Amino acid sequence: MKQQPQNIFSVDLEDWYQGIEIDMQHWEQFAPRIREGLDRLLDLLAASNTKATFFVLGYQAEKTPDIIRQLKEQGHDIASHGYSHRFVYQQTPKEFQTELRKSKQILEDLCGVAIEGYRAPYFSITAQSRWALDILLDEGFLYDSSLFPINNYRYGMPGANRAPGWLRTDAGNHIYEIPLSTVQLPKPGLKWARNLPMSGGGYFRLYPYALSALLIKRLMSENQGLVFYMHPWEYDPAHPRVSFKRRLPKLTHYLHLRSTANKTRKLLADFEFTTIKDAYSECYQNSSARSCS
Ligand SMILES: [Zn+2]
Repeated sequence: MKQQPQNIFSVDLEDWYQGIEIDMQHWEQFAPRIREGLDRLLDLLAASNTKATFFVLGYQAEKTPDIIRQLKEQGHDIASHGYSHRFVYQQTPKEFQTELRKSKQILEDLCGVAIEGYRAPYFSITAQSRWALDILLDEGFLYDSSLFPINNYRYGMPGANRAPGWLRTDAGNHIYEIPLSTVQLPKPGLKWARNLPMSGGGYFRLYPYALSALLIKRLMSENQGLVFYMHPWEYDPAHPRVSFKRRLPKLTHYLHLRSTANKTRKLLADFEFTTIKDAYSECYQNSSARSCS
């Protein structure tokens, strides 16, 4: 592993209607808009010469294979975001395995390289669905980036390690885990400290840019790199307003979309980012590299 921990720019690649708890069987009725936000995001990345890791939803890869080939040609890193965007803890292990295998095959056929990484829809590997980590290993994945060491109403594993490293699974295997970033407040190590999420998505849209920058510097002072994530639809403020099953996801989904692009431009000017493959492959490809923990 490189001396200085690097910041990761990751994108969960899905269209606007795929991550709002609507079952896949209803998706055909919604207008596809993935290009609207994605092109803006790709322009921002290109302008700062930044490569990102894209966790691609298998369903979307089937719909728009040209996008996945374009990302690969532009030098971005491709990983899996499953197939149907269902919560992992609402799937059986068998359903999860079937979807995972399908998504990996689609992406490998398109990209011609092994797909090494996975991020769960809604970060939904929790205490209830830790079994998924062993299935990831069984299916040939080398790392996971699903754990969020906070307590959110949809996800979270508050006691999980905050830094990337080897994680022992329920079956006693080891997988390299790259958790979403948090900072501990009021300061790290205090018994009553709490983890504050600050790693992207709705949190990045909610916080003023100056606060995000402050939290990133705080994280870096702990010798940790930021694991940042966004979605293409967060760069498409004009995407349709629809009714949600629940109120809170609707609030967070549409929050401050107009300022995402400008905030991201500042972020990319102020901090350097790279892909997970670039920053961590020496760790996750070498299971004896316990020094990477
Ligand atoms: Zn997603």
